Amino acid sequence: MVSRVIPVDPFDLVVFGGTGDLARRKILPALFRRFCAGQMPETARIIGAARSDMSDASYTQMVADALREFSPGAQSHADRLRDFLGVISYVRIDAMGEAGWAELTQKITSVDRVEAYYFSVAPSLFGPLAERLQGHGLADRNARIVVEKPFGRDLETAKALNATLARYFDETQIYRIDHYLGKETVQNLMAVRFGNMLFEPLWNSQFVDHIQITVAETVGVGGRGEYYDRAGAMRDMVQNHLMQLLCLIAMEPPARFDPDAVRDEKLKVIRALEPVEPHHIVRGQYNADPDDADTYPDYRTAVGNPRSRTESFVALKTHIANWRWAGTPFYLRTGKRMRERSSEISIVFKETPHSIFAEDAGRHRNVLSIKLQPNEGITLGVTIKEPGPGGMRLIDVPLDMTFAEALGPDGGETVDAYERLIMDVIRGNQTLFMRGDEVEAAWDWTDPIIQGWTDRGDVPKPYDSLSDGPDASAQLLVRDKREWRKI
Ligand code: NAP
Repeated sequence: MVSRVIPVDPFDLVVFGGTGDLARRKILPALFRRFCAGQMPETARIIGAARSDMSDASYTQMVADALREFSPGAQSHADRLRDFLGVISYVRIDAMGEAGWAELTQKITSVDRVEAYYFSVAPSLFGPLAERLQGHGLADRNARIVVEKPFGRDLETAKALNATLARYFDETQIYRIDHYLGKETVQNLMAVRFGNMLFEPLWNSQFVDHIQITVAETVGVGGRGEYYDRAGAMRDMVQNHLMQLLCLIAMEPPARFDPDAVRDEKLKVIRALEPVEPHHIVRGQYNADPDDADTYPDYRTAVGNPRSRTESFVALKTHIANWRWAGTPFYLRTGKRMRERSSEISIVFKETPHSIFAEDAGRHRNVLSIKLQPNEGITLGVTIKEPGPGGMRLIDVPLDMTFAEALGPDGGETVDAYERLIMDVIRGNQTLFMRGDEVEAAWDWTDPIIQGWTDRGDVPKPYDSLSDGPDASAQLLVRDKREWRKI
């Protein structure tokens, strides 16, 4: 299948934190791939910006090394790599001081180009960067800023950050990134829901028994221990990524596929979320790997805090108080050091109201499962007769819409979330970015949960490395005569 690549307009993209981990692993490789795909005009300019003392040549060398490491195939595109490196330069700049701003201002002179400023730096620098961009005349109407996560650590800090950014930029210029929204399957979720007649009539509490969202990782906290211990799974994953997935599943059909129409509907979902009862939420901390505790220590050792009460796992049940979803539970879980790396949304439909078959024929529920990783795809479990003699026995078979199989060896075209989202920034399309009020509403729902843990002195339950999390997580569903889908 040949995919259509529509080139974007000429742009200048300044990557603040251009020497950092995210820039090297994700942002620069994403730009390189779009360059190779012919989507980036050769007149585009990418400017790395950080405090390190580097020349254009040494920065370009660092980018080349990063691409070799993180962009498989860069080697085989030697010509394209050379051309791509030709659009890259570096400015030594301090987000907290005055060094480098005059040089950056000189580089960004053109009036008829998109100017994008990617804040790939620590969140404490988001405000100072916005202020300095404005102070140096760079916050003009062609400018847009891309703000990384975390966006605040509670409602108060998120509000303060929104207010700071709003002092210098209009909301239409602010792109709060959540890379989950850039995933092909997440957008396909909207295509499946709103492009087919089949699903939408069934998409409500009358036909859906419950919904599960799982984002499981096998890795531990790695080198992010200090940050993670201050955040925990609730702040790091649920408030943003899982919440965004929940919104896309639960929202009403927007009138149009445009940024505000979609984000208005998502906001209504968040505002309709019921508070979570303390006995409907389970927290956990992973144990050491019994066979290799040096390489895979327990959570508290990994973060260097022997008394930590931060969760590396959370599972919860919530409800959405509106006509469509009243009575349908949403179960969410996410954790580190779990059995498999797997992100999946499952819409579990109700059983047929009456079975006409003998009891031993078996009975199955239809499950629509949307897999985000490791392999993106959508399957629908359908009940059919087991082939062959022996009477009517029912089995569950998947109708598989795995993109790689349905759309050719490339799965159409596998575009990384960062590729799509950065190009959306240049195109000026905010549909897949979070609006300020959405982020605040999400914190408004999350804060009392976290505050409740503190007030009750809640201690996370230990769980085995490479497991499904604490037993209490399984019980959360067993109590409701349900079970988690296998990860
Ligand atoms: P990092 O590796 O620590 O990089 C930080 C960057 O900021 C470096 O380039 C650093 O370069 C620069 N910097 C620090 N202080 C500066 C200053 N005063 N002025 C200008 N530049 C400054 O961090 P990261 O992992 O790339 O993360 C960047 C942002 O992305 C953070 O907000 C993080 O939460 C978010 N994020 C990261 C990941 C990830 O996988 N890494 C995933 C999701 C979100 P110098 O020291 O040379 O100045």
